[in-house]
Formats: sequence, C-alpha cells, structure tokens
Amino acid sequence: MSDIIQLLPDHVANQIAAGEVVQRPASVVKELLENAIDAGASSITLLLKDAGKTLIQVIDNGKGMSTTDARLCFERHATSKIKDAKDLFNLNTKGFRGEALASIAAIAHVELKTKQDNEEVGTAIKIEGSEVISQEVVSTAKGTSLAVKNLFYNIPARRNFLKSDTVETRHIIDEFQRVAMAHPDIAFQLHHNGNEVYHLKESNLRKRIVAIFGNKMNEKLVPLDEQTDIMKIRGFVAKPSYAKKKRGEQFFFVNDRFIKSSYLNHAVNNAFDGLLENGYHPTYFIYFDVPPNTIDINIHPTKTEVKFDNEKALYAILRATVKHSLGQYSVAPVLDFNRDATLDTPYQFKDKPAVSTPKITVDPDFNPFKNNTVSAAPPKKTSTQSTPSSPSFNTSYKSDTGSWESLYVNTYDSVSQEKLFESEKETETGKTFQIQKKYILSTIKSGVVLIHQSLAHQRVLYEEFLTNITVKDANSQQLLFPINISFSSSDIEMIFSIKSDLESAGFVFNEFTKESVVIGGIPTSISESQISLILEQLLDDLKLEVPDASFSHYDVMAKSFAKSLAIKTGTVLSVKEQETLVNNLFSCKEPSVSPLGKPTFKTLTLQEIDNIFSN
Ligand code: ADP
Ligand code: MG
Repeated sequence: MSDIIQLLPDHVANQIAAGEVVQRPASVVKELLENAIDAGASSITLLLKDAGKTLIQVIDNGKGMSTTDARLCFERHATSKIKDAKDLFNLNTKGFRGEALASIAAIAHVELKTKQDNEEVGTAIKIEGSEVISQEVVSTAKGTSLAVKNLFYNIPARRNFLKSDTVETRHIIDEFQRVAMAHPDIAFQLHHNGNEVYHLKESNLRKRIVAIFGNKMNEKLVPLDEQTDIMKIRGFVAKPSYAKKKRGEQFFFVNDRFIKSSYLNHAVNNAFDGLLENGYHPTYFIYFDVPPNTIDINIHPTKTEVKFDNEKALYAILRATVKHSLGQYSVAPVLDFNRDATLDTPYQFKDKPAVSTPKITVDPDFNPFKNNTVSAAPPKKTSTQSTPSSPSFNTSYKSDTGSWESLYVNTYDSVSQEKLFESEKETETGKTFQIQKKYILSTIKSGVVLIHQSLAHQRVLYEEFLTNITVKDANSQQLLFPINISFSSSDIEMIFSIKSDLESAGFVFNEFTKESVVIGGIPTSISESQISLILEQLLDDLKLEVPDASFSHYDVMAKSFAKSLAIKTGTVLSVKEQETLVNNLFSCKEPSVSPLGKPTFKTLTLQEIDNIFSN
C-alpha cells in the first residue's frame, strides 16, 4: 500500500492554530496589546471598526522590529521571547509561544509597519491568508503599527459565528480594561468607529482604576498591601457597602497578567465573611507579584488560568490581607462608635502632598498566617472612655475589664465566654427587656442598645460553629438509635462530597446508600429532631456556592447551621436567656452584623435620646 501521511502546508497549519489562539476579535486585541507591552511601549493606541470585525489596529511606540524580524514575526514559532525550554520557567513577557501573529496572518488581512529607534526608515509588510503580498521600505514613526482587517475573511463559518457588535465590543473592552489595569504606567487610548472610548494617561494604580470605572470608584477603594517571602500583594478591595449583586468588578493579576481563579476568589469572599448580604459579591482589584518560576501560566491555551506552586499559602495570605485591610480601614463594622473620622478620608488624598495622610495605626505584630488574629479587628483607638458617645455596658464587664472597649479588645484576645459568665455572677446584672418577642432592649452606660434576638443569635451560633469546626475537635453526641434520612441521589452525592467537613463539625455517618444516609452521631449543639431540617438547609445553601471542590465548606456550613438553629422571632426569652444572649453576642468577634450581613443591634446614646427631646 502506498504511504498516506502528508505534512500539512504552513498556511493550513496556521489556520488550525488560529482556531485556538483567535476565537474572536477580542483575542486579537489581547495578543496585539500584549506584543506592544512586551516591546516596551509607553503609549499604546487601539483603533477599532465594527467591533473589530472590519479593523483592529494597535499602534505602539515600542522598540520596533528590524526588516528581517518584521518578516519573521509571521512565521509559526517565531518568537524573540524564549530561546530554549528553560526560559519557559522564567517568563517576564506576556507572549512566548510565537503563534499569535502567524495565526492572525492566516485568517485576516494584515498590515505591519515598524521601525526601530536607531533606523532612518522602517518596513511595511502586507499579508493575506499567510501570503506575503508586499514588502516595502517606508518612513514611519518609531514603534509598530499592526492593522488586522476583515478577520476570518477566509473562514466564513467562523465569521458567521461572531456575535453582535455590542457583544464583541464588550469582549474587546473587557480585554482592553484588563491590560490597561495591569499596566497603569502605560498610556492607552481606544477609539471605536472614530469615537474616543478611553484616553488613559500614564498614572498610578488607583488613578487608573478610577479612570476606567469612574470617579465614584475612588471613595470605595480600600488599599491592600502585604509582602511576604513568597509574594507581594497590592491593589484594592471595595468597601463591603459597595458590594454588587452581579459578580462584575473582580480582578486578579499575577505578575501583571490578568487571571481567573475561583480558588482565590473564595479567599476574598471568605475575608468578607459576615460583611456581605447573601447574594452580594465583593469588588476587588488584586495584584500578586510572585517569582516567575513559582507559577505555570502554560496550563491554559488562552492563559487566564495560572497554576501556583504554593496555592494554599497564597489563599491564607490573601484572606488575611483582605481581612486585615478591612479592619485597618475601619470598614468592617466593628464596635467602634466614636471612631476617628479621619479614617473615612478618601484615600485619594494620599498622593497629594499638601494634605496630610490619614493616620492609620498599623499593627506591627500582624501575622497573616495566624488567621484568628486578623479578623476585622477594630482599629486601635486613641480616644478615651470619657467621650460622651463611647458606650460601655454597666453590667458584668465593669468589674472584669473596666470598659466596653477593653472588653472588646479582650474578647478579641479570645477570652473565653465561660470566663465572662463567671464574672457576671459576681456583679450586678444589666437590665434587659424583651419587646414583642423579637427584640431585646438593654441599658448601657451611655444609653440603650436594641438587639434583634434572632439575628444576634445567628451571629453567636455562627462563630461558635466556625470555631468548633476549624479546631477539628467538635463534640459529637452519639445517637442511641441511628437515624436514616432519605435524599435525592444528587443530594446524597453532595453530602458525601462534604462528608469530612461534616464529620469535623461533629456528624458521624454510619452508612451511605444511593438515596439515604444513616447518621450515628450529631454535633452536641443540634438536637435529633432538627437534623434533617438543617441538612436540607445546608444543601440549599451549598447549591448557591461557587462550585469548586478544592476548599472546605466550613463557612457555608456554619452560616447554614446558624440560620437553621437560631432562636426565631416570636420566641419568649427568660431574663436569664436574654442576658446570656446579650453577653454572648458582645463576646463575638463581629457582634454588630449577622453572618449574612444584617445589623444585629443598634445603640441609642443618652446624647441622642436627649436630642430627641430637646427640640
Ligand atoms: P510571541 O509574542 O509569543 O513571541 P507573536 O506571534 O505574538 O509571538 O510575536 C512574534 C514576535 O514578533 C515577538 O516575539 C516579537 O519579537 C515580535 N513582535 C510582535 N509584535 C511586536 C511589536 N508590537 N513590537 C515589536 N516586536 C513585536
Ligand atoms: Mg505575542
């Protein structure tokens, strides 16, 4: 039999490669912008016609190409960025595959003009479907202009597959924004059909973000800044009150490259824990700088996913850093009634020399690996107790700690709840009243506090569960008669997948079948009759979570359990129960919000009460 294997002609191979590299006009935009950055440009202009379907042109003032390189750059695997395989582990450039220009030239009409700084004249080349149409000497500015016309002109199927101009433009703008955000020190312009869409001057990170997302963004941003041996984290998160219903403005960059990571996203969400209402998503712009040899950006063809050597540590540091910043900048709701107003000063003034920077006390002992010590700490206050609005409970805590403020600090240093209870017995008790089987009113030194009993209890239970689960020695009560609960098979699968998390919360599973589970032990805080209810609630809550199995579900569990088990509105509480709840609430780390972000109490100072009657 005759031989049947043939080598594909280059232009066919290039077209096939183009299928991977170029999905839509936005992919071309990304590749061209990245090439301009790799060429060291300080100013980059993007011109579009018809959502890039007719024209995508990128003009840069970078280093340009020699005549030979101008021709070579369209060959497949032609790259100036790596020389051998080991360079792959130390990449400082955006590109390295040497595929982009060859692919683009295979499926469009391409016109290149380029000139190096030290040359008198430059080179112009026209290529259509991998075929060089012309090459000439031209006089042109330093740098490179690459125009891509009629994308997919020779692949009608792909061209027809493109979405409406609105959709394709949105994709392009997304790419443009990501690149512009990663490089605030480069000036960018974007024109579409002759209209200027963006004119971004060379600036700093904060200004660049504000320039892209609008002036309103400025007041929302809380800076992040952390440096460890293995990485640097910088950037911003938006204050919890600006969280969005839609998962929109969430950006991670690694070594100035935009990436997606549901794992790291989870770390941020976790840091916002208890500060956001259900269904809201934090806004963030987070930049990691890591040694290039500790990441692998090669695992995904379009390169938005990155593999980190040290993913777990990164998760922990990120979470701690975000928590720390939220606490430092006093945006986490903490018991801090007379907080320093300067902390609210928009950070924009930081760069302006004439204005003094807000005074922020930085905790020198901050250790990002010690999770518990950084949870939304109240900023250390300089004001004293004598300020009229500073409340202090005139109950148990007085003899023990002297003031509300020191109580808070103590709790924060994890004084156990038992200890607080002991001291309570020795002193007079604060007065509490239940109102409408819903609220608890309690007197404090500076006025009164009104507490929502159910939300407050949720907070208490949530923190209790979280502590129990994470210390991994949760108490379990053995059931005399194991109970058999039926679920759908997909729910069983889900329970099975979080089996070990549930076990650390105190559940004991005797048996799993296709549609039922036999439970032999449960957490001590749960009663037998509640089990199926709370498991069902948990399944519901888990279904709303990000589907990513690489982390534990402790937080969802704790929230879910707290929600199911908290005393409800309509429950009559004895005075003793009221007091216990009040005390437990105020020994929480974040007493003022429920796990789902609702306020748990409101204080009314004497001053405020006086004001009511003074008019
Ligand atoms: P890669 O970026 O992976 O190297 P490309 O196909 O995108 O592959 O580009 C091939 C080569 O062409 C680059 O390595 C670079 O040397 C050169 N090149 C591309 N665009 C530019 C530009 N705007 N300025 C200078 N050189 C460029
Ligand atoms: Mg490239």
